[in-house]
Amino acid sequence: MSSTVRERELLDNVPKKLLIGGVWREADSGARLAVEDPATGAVLAEVADGGPKEMMAALDAAADAQRSWAKSSPRLRSDLLRAAYDEVVRRADEFALLITLEMGKPLAESLGEVRYGAEFLRWFSEEAVRMGGRWNRSPEGTTRLLTMKDPAGPTLMITPWNFPLAMATRKIAPAVAAGCTMVLKPAEQTPLTSLAFAELMQSVGLPVGVLNVVPTTRAAESTSAVLQDARLRKLTFTGSTAVGKRLIEASSSNVLRVSMELGGNAPLIVCEDADIDKAVAGAMLAKMRNIGQACTAANRILVHESVADKFAGNFAAAMSAQQLGRGTETGVQVGPLIDERAREKVSGLVSSAVASGARLLTGGSARIGEGYFFEPTVLTDVGEHDITREELFGPVAPITTFCSDDDAISKANATEYGLASYVFTENISRALRVVEELEFGMVGLNQGVVSNAAAPFGGVKHSGFGREGGAEGIEEYLSTKYVGIAP
Ligand code: NAD
Repeated sequence: MSSTVRERELLDNVPKKLLIGGVWREADSGARLAVEDPATGAVLAEVADGGPKEMMAALDAAADAQRSWAKSSPRLRSDLLRAAYDEVVRRADEFALLITLEMGKPLAESLGEVRYGAEFLRWFSEEAVRMGGRWNRSPEGTTRLLTMKDPAGPTLMITPWNFPLAMATRKIAPAVAAGCTMVLKPAEQTPLTSLAFAELMQSVGLPVGVLNVVPTTRAAESTSAVLQDARLRKLTFTGSTAVGKRLIEASSSNVLRVSMELGGNAPLIVCEDADIDKAVAGAMLAKMRNIGQACTAANRILVHESVADKFAGNFAAAMSAQQLGRGTETGVQVGPLIDERAREKVSGLVSSAVASGARLLTGGSARIGEGYFFEPTVLTDVGEHDITREELFGPVAPITTFCSDDDAISKANATEYGLASYVFTENISRALRVVEELEFGMVGLNQGVVSNAAAPFGGVKHSGFGREGGAEGIEEYLSTKYVGIAP
């Protein structure tokens, strides 16, 4: 079967409606939103474009299902998640192709996302049957204390476009394990993967109304009434810090439980005693995963001045060897950015940094022609500039030097963000000292990837609060209830 026939067949089979209360339906207005292939700009498919009315109908369905879902057995929830894991793994190639088509990353990376996204289903299928409570006596011995966990309740989930499957399963899996019902609003650029995944959840037997999905082009307008509705009890958001701040405000009048996975501006520190080959390989991963469009992406490469030339030369060589192209083509390592706005932002930051004195070691330009491509780019001699203050979200690496551990730490922490950070050193005492001083939720020590379903993913400062994955992940969807029992 030719690749385009396979793509067409896959796209034809993806549901393109809203999922509300177990029923696939159009928006009342009949509106549809177009999903683009960022490698060509061509429209891949059109899906139903929901609005405030459909979002409220989805909350109705979630609220109706909450009571019985909360009573379902942990074993049932565990088995459902395990069946979903098996099914995603069985259909991994299909999900990977769908992700590549609507988001742009190369197929090998999409497969990596499918495995990563599936792991949350497996991890939380194991967590679902391990939820415990506490039983103890009060210190004065006059009462017994029973501490138990209830599901937090109906949850609104808002996800970004950069990991269309994993950002959804990282929320859906713990919510299923905890017994919460859900309304998922996927990013308008990448709704197809979420719709396909919701259909998969239906096929493994998730009860009606537990998961509802409403893509929309009117995110703020469609979610505002739901956020004020007393039946909604939790909001979980992954996206930019600017939108996160607005949603924290919007959730205050209803006093919602809130989890925020926001933007990052990760430093990657290469110490004087680092293994340079390891550091270059780690920097390639930390920078180029997802075409630089990851919240964990190394945005600022900080290198000790004594090894800066060697590191920069090797790193620039690795960056310039990367092959650009449509993610479905063999050998392609770097796909397009998500849209023209993203490319303009990256392009503007690079030209302005160069105009302010930064030196271009490789790349620097947008590729002319169809799709939103930007060349892998390395800059040195980067002074005080927006390129190191803002979240870049592209295949661009600005290198700055430092002269001591303290200098590295203060440069690394000089940002309002606090999500991921990376340190490369072969000296264990230095490693621990630097790690302790870094004001970030996650540190990669001699490795360029921090994402793992078994670890608590999340940030501090303007990168948000709450954790996804690990033993902490399920707690975000549970409320604590304590019962005082007379002796
Ligand atoms: P975004 O904030 O523009 O959008 C994220 C989601 O929020 C989308 O579904 C969008 O439709 C919705 N949205 C936008 N405005 C809204 C509003 N006013 N009310 C309700 N919903 C609204 O972010 P993006 O461009 O899709 O994603 C990139 C951002 O996400 C980056 O900042 C990145 O760092 C961040 N991100 C963070 C993590 C993490 O775990 N911390 C993971 C992935 C991405």
